[in-house]
Amino acid sequence: MAEVVPTNPQAEAAQGRVALWLDSEDLRWLARHCCCPEDASREVRERCDRLRFRASAALHKHGSGTDATCG
Ligand SMILES: [Zn+2]
Repeated sequence: MAEVVPTNPQAEAAQGRVALWLDSEDLRWLARHCCCPEDASREVRERCDRLRFRASAALHKHGSGTDATCG
């Protein structure tokens, strides 16, 4: 299980990131939902993994984690 690092709003903004609030149900769906096609490129899979990891980390912070990996 990866360590959940508290969000630093300034560091996030410096990386061009924006805050996004989602229902825990939506996050749970996102954390588990891989829609990569069979022939998805490595870049697509990495993005999918990253998104789902972040959804999972947010859920974990919220009190219910999932372990989803791509492909
Ligand atoms: Zn995927």
